[in-house]
Amino acid sequence: MPFKSISTSLLLGAAALAAFRRARLDPPSGSPFFPPSQLSWIAALAMGFFLKRLIASGSRGRLIQDGSKLPKDDEYDFVIVGGGTAGCVLAARLSEDPNVSVLLLEAGGSGKALMFSRIPVAFSLLFHSKHVWRFYTEPQAGAGGKKKFWPRGKMLGGCSSINAQMAQYGAPADFDRWAEIIGDDAWKWDNFQNSFRKFETYVPNPDFPDVDLSLKGKEGPVRVGYFSDVSKASKDFIQACQEVGIDYSPDFNTSKGTLGVNKIMTYIDETRTRVSSESAYFTKDVLARSNLKVVINATVTQIITERVGDEVKAIGVEFTRNATGFRYRVKSKRDIVVSSGAVHSPQILMLSGIGPAEELKRHDIPVVQDLPGVGDHLVDHPVVDAYFHNRNTTAKYVKPQGVLDLVKLGSSAARYLATGKGVLTTNFGESAAFVRSDNPNLFSKSEFAEGLADSTSGAGSPDLEIFTTPFAYKEHGDVMFPMETFAIHACLLRPKSKGSLKLKSNDPWDAPNINPNYLSAPEDVKKLVRGLRLIFKISQTEPLSAQLVHAGKSDQLDHEMHLKSDEELEEVVRDRVETLYHPTSTCRMAPKEQGGVVDSHLRVYGVKGLRVCDASIFPEIVSGHTAGATLATAEHLADIIKGEMKA
Ligand SMILES: Cc1cc2nc3c(=O)[nH]c(=O)nc-3n(C[C@H](O)[C@H](O)[C@H](O)COP(=O)(O)OP(=O)(O)OC[C@H]3O[C@@H](n4cnc5c(N)ncnc54)[C@H](O)[C@@H]3O)c2cc1C
Repeated sequence: MPFKSISTSLLLGAAALAAFRRARLDPPSGSPFFPPSQLSWIAALAMGFFLKRLIASGSRGRLIQDGSKLPKDDEYDFVIVGGGTAGCVLAARLSEDPNVSVLLLEAGGSGKALMFSRIPVAFSLLFHSKHVWRFYTEPQAGAGGKKKFWPRGKMLGGCSSINAQMAQYGAPADFDRWAEIIGDDAWKWDNFQNSFRKFETYVPNPDFPDVDLSLKGKEGPVRVGYFSDVSKASKDFIQACQEVGIDYSPDFNTSKGTLGVNKIMTYIDETRTRVSSESAYFTKDVLARSNLKVVINATVTQIITERVGDEVKAIGVEFTRNATGFRYRVKSKRDIVVSSGAVHSPQILMLSGIGPAEELKRHDIPVVQDLPGVGDHLVDHPVVDAYFHNRNTTAKYVKPQGVLDLVKLGSSAARYLATGKGVLTTNFGESAAFVRSDNPNLFSKSEFAEGLADSTSGAGSPDLEIFTTPFAYKEHGDVMFPMETFAIHACLLRPKSKGSLKLKSNDPWDAPNINPNYLSAPEDVKKLVRGLRLIFKISQTEPLSAQLVHAGKSDQLDHEMHLKSDEELEEVVRDRVETLYHPTSTCRMAPKEQGGVVDSHLRVYGVKGLRVCDASIFPEIVSGHTAGATLATAEHLADIIKGEMKA
C-alpha cells in the first residue's frame, strides 16, 4: 500500500473516531432540531476522500499563503482583487499569455480544500464558518423590520464555492437589455452567448436526451450537466407543472429562451463534485504558471491612485492579512481589476475615494473621483417558501434529528464514498419552472384581474421562478421541520425594489450598510402572491398532489394557505421573504449620467487603469441565477483585454 493511501486511511480512521466520539459527547438536546455541526461525523468520513484528492492534485501547495513573501515593491501587469467567481476566470485567462504577469489577492483560503464546499449537499454547513462573510442587511421596512442574513463566499471560487450549483443563466433578452443600456452590441445575447459557451462544457447524460448538444459549450473549464440527485416529489413537480400549463424545456440556457419547467442543470460534474470557478480554472497546470501568483489570506484595504494633472490613475493596491497586520503594497503596470463581489467591490472603491462625494466626505475619505453610482442600485432576488407534508421518506436526515437519521446518513455517506451517488449529491434547488406573472393560462384574467406592470426583459422572459427543494427548512437550513416535508419556493426574478450599499465607516474591517429595500415596490409583493397561488395550484395537481399529505393540519405547513385572501398572503410574503443570494448592480455598467460606474469595457469612469468585473457590474439583474452571467462577464472581459493588448 503506498504511503499516501496509508496516511489517508489513518487520517480517515482518526477523524471518524474523533467525530463519533464527539457525537456521543453531544447527544441531541431537548430541541427537535440538531445543530448543523452534528453532520461533522459524516464530514470526517468524506475527509479521507477529499484529502486523497487534494494530495493527488497538489494544487494547494502552489497558492501563496502569506503575502509578505511577495518581493517588496513587486509589479504586475494585472492585479486582481478577489479570487471569487469572476476573479479566478480572469486570472486564469489573462495568464495564458506567458508574457503577461498576473497577481490575484484573495481574502479567504482555498474552497477546493473544504469538503463542505465539494460535497454538493453540504454547502449550507459553511454559512456560519470563517470561510463565509456573514453579513446582515439593515432592518427591512418592507419585511417586518427584520435584518436578513446574507452569506457570501470568502475563499477562492467565492460564492461559486458555496452556492446551490443551479446552472440556469437568465433569459437571452436580459443581455439584449444590457447591450441597450450600455450602448454596446457586444453584450447582446447573439454575441455575448459565446462567452457562456466559452466557460462551459456540457457533459451529456443519457437520461436527458433532449438537450441539443450543438447549442452547448464543449471545451470550457466549467463542467455542467444533470448529475445531481433529484427527489421523487421534485420529479413529480415537473409533471404537475406541465399539467397546469407550463411547457417542458429541454434546456433553460439556449437562444430558445428560459421559460418552462425541468430539472435544473447543475455545476456538478460526473464525479458528483461541485464545480467552482477555482476548481474549474485553477488547475494544477494553471497554478504552475510562473507568470501567475495567487495569494490567499490577503485582504485588499484600498486601491492606490495617483493624480497627474486632471487625470487619476490606479497604480497599486494595499493589502493585509488581518485588521492589525502590516499593510503591504503591490504595483500594477496596466490594470487593477476589482472582482470582490457585489458587496465588497463598491466598498473597496469607496474606501479608495471613488464614489459619491458626499458619502465619502461623511467618512473623512479624500475624494479621488466623484461617482454617485457606486453602491447605488443594489438589487437582489427575493424568495418566499411554502412548506408541505411529504408522504415519502426524504433526505432530511442529512440534517440528523435522531439516531435513525444518523444511521441513514451513514449509509448515504458510504454510498457517496463508494459510488459518488445518492442524496449527498442533491444541490437542494432540484426542479424549476420559469414563468411570467401575466401568463393568462396560469393567471386567468377572471381570477387575477389587476394588471401589473411588466418588469421582464422581453416578451419571452420570465419574472417568476418556482423551484423545489427535497425537504423544507427555515433560517437558511439551520432550522428543520420534525415531519417529512417538501418545499416549493417562489422567487421574483425582476424586482422593481432597489436599495443601496453605503459605508458604515472608513475602516475596511467594518461591514458596510446593506439595504436591498426588499418589497418596497408594492407590485413586487403582488407578483410574489401570484407565485404562491401558482405553488398551491401545482401542489394540488397530480402526480405531485398524491405525494403530499394534504389532510395534515399542522400550523407549520401550508396545505390550507390557498384559503387565505390576497391581503393575507401579502402578509405571508412580507413575513417570509428571504434572499436568494443574488445581489447585483452596485457598480453598474451604464452611462455615467445614468448612475453608471463602469463603461462597456468595465473601466471605472474617470480612473485610468481600474476596472470592475463581477456581479456588481450587471446593468440589471438577470431573470435567473447569477453565477453563469458572472462567469461569462469575466470571460468577455478577458477577451476584451487580450484584444486591447494586441492592438
Ligand atoms: C448561498 C448561495 C447560493 C447561491 N446559489 C446560486 C445558484 O444556485 N446558481 C447561481 O447561478 N448563483 C447562485 N448564487 C449566486 C452566485 O454564486 C453569485 O452571484 C456569484 O458567484 C457572484 O460572483 P462574484 O464574482 O460577483 O463574487 P464572489 O464569487 O462573491 O467573489 C468575490 C471574492 O472576492 C473576495 N474578496 C472580497 N473582498 C475582498 C478584499 N477586500 N480583498 C481580497 N478579496 C476580497 C471574496 O472573498 C470572494 O472570494 C448563490 C450565492 C450564494 C451565496
